[in-house]
Amino acid sequence: MEQYYFRQPNGKLGKSAPCLYPQCFENTQFSRSPYCSLHQKVLKNQTMDLFNSISSKADKKQWELLTYELIKRKYTCTCQELSNLLKHFITEKLARSQMDAIWETFKVNKNVEENAELVEDRLVNVKPLFS
Ligand SMILES: [Zn+2]
Repeated sequence: MEQYYFRQPNGKLGKSAPCLYPQCFENTQFSRSPYCSLHQKVLKNQTMDLFNSISSKADKKQWELLTYELIKRKYTCTCQELSNLLKHFITEKLARSQMDAIWETFKVNKNVEENAELVEDRLVNVKPLFS
């Protein structure tokens, strides 16, 4: 079965899956991420930069409030909920590309097909930011 699968470049299972990052055509067919390994790192760096800038701008009380809200949720929420929680720290809502980056970094469900179609509805766990 496995062998047959690999011999079907044009079959449904053999369909190639290019990285979702703009202008990147790296195949992610055998990856658990819709991004290639290079762009997984790029997105993780973007996410860490975002949260570093938020934490450096936030005052202690605001940050404690955010931590409190996240602990209540066991650090797990959808990207949309996270965007709402962060609205005191960033002037606009999280952009779609920022949500994509946050999801790639903190996704709860590792397999692409186990996640909601809309990035807003996908679950993330941001505990690594606080430990
Ligand atoms: Zn890529």
